Amino acid sequence: MKGLVYEGPRQVAVKDVPDARIERPTDVLVRVTATNICGSDLHMYEGRTDLEAGRVLGHENLGVVAEVGSGVERIRVGDRVCLPFNIGCGFCRNCEDGLTAFCLTVHPDPNMAGAAFGFAGMGPFDGGQAEYLRVPFGDFNCLRLPEDAEEKEDDYVMVSDIFPTGWHATRLAGLRPGESCVVYGAGPVGLMAAYSAMIQGAKKVMIVDRHPDRLRLAEQIGVIPIDDSKGDPVQQVLDQTNGKGADRGCECVGYQAHDPQGTERSNMTMNNLVGSVRFTGGIGVVGIFLPADPGSQDEMQRNGQIAFDMGTFWFKGQKVGTGQANVKHYNRYLRDLIHEDRAKPSWIVSHDLPLQRAPEAYDQFDKREDGWTKVVLKP
Ligand code: NAD
Ligand code: ZN
Repeated sequence: MKGLVYEGPRQVAVKDVPDARIERPTDVLVRVTATNICGSDLHMYEGRTDLEAGRVLGHENLGVVAEVGSGVERIRVGDRVCLPFNIGCGFCRNCEDGLTAFCLTVHPDPNMAGAAFGFAGMGPFDGGQAEYLRVPFGDFNCLRLPEDAEEKEDDYVMVSDIFPTGWHATRLAGLRPGESCVVYGAGPVGLMAAYSAMIQGAKKVMIVDRHPDRLRLAEQIGVIPIDDSKGDPVQQVLDQTNGKGADRGCECVGYQAHDPQGTERSNMTMNNLVGSVRFTGGIGVVGIFLPADPGSQDEMQRNGQIAFDMGTFWFKGQKVGTGQANVKHYNRYLRDLIHEDRAKPSWIVSHDLPLQRAPEAYDQFDKREDGWTKVVLKP
């Protein structure tokens, strides 16, 4: 089969790779029909991780069940399914608590929690930027889609990661209806966090970035764009909130935060959030902070540390929640919002492309070229 393979920093290619197949009785084999490129793929693409050459990327997947293992009870050949990016077992303590991003049994290293498709450090599982995908514990991990699956494919594929991840950011922050929320980062994840806050009835949602095309997109759904190249974003948020700060804040950038001049400053968004959120407010951090990035321009991040303003954070009595999104905890509800036309996350899709064009798409998305917001690949 064809698959998009990581070959080295900023080098990916569509190649013949070994066919994905059923390896265990509980596996499901999916013929992939839609698979996104994610900001998280860029950590690997840019060579910031120890991902080995030859791995197939792709953790935001949707497709049609082609084959099921002998131990699969619920999922049937022909079902259209959306796959969470995290792989859970369904029976460990964390999966039972809904914390499927921290599954205790799927990762082969017993000291690790959490596994994912096509991801450095998250187990040996290949991704779905390919014709077929092997899904471990298929009964647990496959989310069956309703009859409008094909028609709304670009909506449902967002339920594999960025829609639940954006939603998770608002839940970690503790957002309630009628509150205000500021989102740092207007990439696909930040746009989905802002969208989630709107759906949940926030009274005012702000988003900080400096890419005019991304800020314009946010504005189209009623979010207030804040351009940090035009002045201190913390002050701009305070100006929007009677000087008090937003009730809730979402971090959707991660350790690759830059200042508007382009210098990498890993601690920037966290400190801006502490400044932008009110006393006793909440912060949800879904942007990825790697334990270390030896190639970073930022000295602290090279050593895997972030110089975060703990003093102000403590003094303001703020709360913070972090981590990978437990996609399975939200995906049924978000699927049903889409099915009932209460949500349409495909508004962020800028490109639907054949798998063959993935290398070009990686290059453009990595450069945050104007208009390259979210790419859906169609194997
Ligand atoms: P992206 O790189 O497309 O978007 C990041 C955006 O942040 C860009 O538009 C960039 O201009 C902006 N930015 C950079 N520095 C900034 C600053 N100082 N202030 C405000 N904005 C700034 O990526 P994405 O796909 O939107 O993903 C965002 C983050 O979320 C990544 O770290 C990704 O790995 C992570 N992620 C986490 C999860 C999870 O489960 N927790 C899931 C998916 C993605
Ligand atoms: Zn992703």
